[in-house]
Amino acid sequence: MGDNKFNLYNIKLLMINPDKFRNYTNDLPDVIECYKDQRKYQSLDFYDYAINKYCKFERKASFWELFDKLSTFVDLSDPDTNLSNHQHLYQTAEAIRNDGLPEWMQIVGLIHDLGKLIYVMGNDQDGTSMKKQWGIVGDTFILGCQIPEEIVYPEFNKLNQHYNQTKLGIYQENCGFDKLKCSFGHDEYLYRMLKFNKIPLPDEAYYIIRYHSLYLWHSYNQYTYFENETDKKMKPWVSKFQKYDLYTKSPKKVNEKDAKKYYDNLIKKYFPTIIYY
Ligand code: FE
Ligand code: FE
Repeated sequence: MGDNKFNLYNIKLLMINPDKFRNYTNDLPDVIECYKDQRKYQSLDFYDYAINKYCKFERKASFWELFDKLSTFVDLSDPDTNLSNHQHLYQTAEAIRNDGLPEWMQIVGLIHDLGKLIYVMGNDQDGTSMKKQWGIVGDTFILGCQIPEEIVYPEFNKLNQHYNQTKLGIYQENCGFDKLKCSFGHDEYLYRMLKFNKIPLPDEAYYIIRYHSLYLWHSYNQYTYFENETDKKMKPWVSKFQKYDLYTKSPKKVNEKDAKKYYDNLIKKYFPTIIYY
């Protein structure tokens, strides 16, 4: 009982004080190191290498087997929560469900970070392990062009291979996001994995999954010079989702057993029994 009270109090505090999130000023060493490495090693070459290596989808598992791979994964780039990603996914989905949003969006809440399972086939050198996560997590950015100073830890921008590129770099103005190469991680991996498995989610869902870590765009309004009409139309969905992703990182735990019963029915509607990953 006392525990519950404490949790509710904390959630209220978090809800009225959104500045408490994404606060990087406490200089958490893991967070800093992850971002420094990410800026240093994410490049056009790494992108091609990672897509080729991690997006072959030759392994098979059921949805819940994949989901359970996240139960022990803690995101090193995230200063807001030290709960496992399992809980974070349930919390995001439940908040979306509580607001009466459509089933496909609830599913996006439940699966949006599922791509972090890259770590089961990863290694330290690629930044795709439990210990080294710069190839899995962190805010993403576009490769092959200037990185906007609005990014978290802009002082690391000069470590990037494309630091001397122009604003547009290798791209054309308004070419559309589909033409861009975004730093590789759980967003791009899951996007491709769902496409490969032909999961019948709407375009909005695919879009949210692919760009939810591109804070520079959906929260800091950068990269608008690459947008085409589709990107402009999709952006409000990504912003809407972002609020659930962030403000649900609360200490109040979702009862996973109860939640699983509900989501299992949803998953059966959209996913086959065997998924390639
Ligand atoms: Fe994420
Ligand atoms: Fe998330």
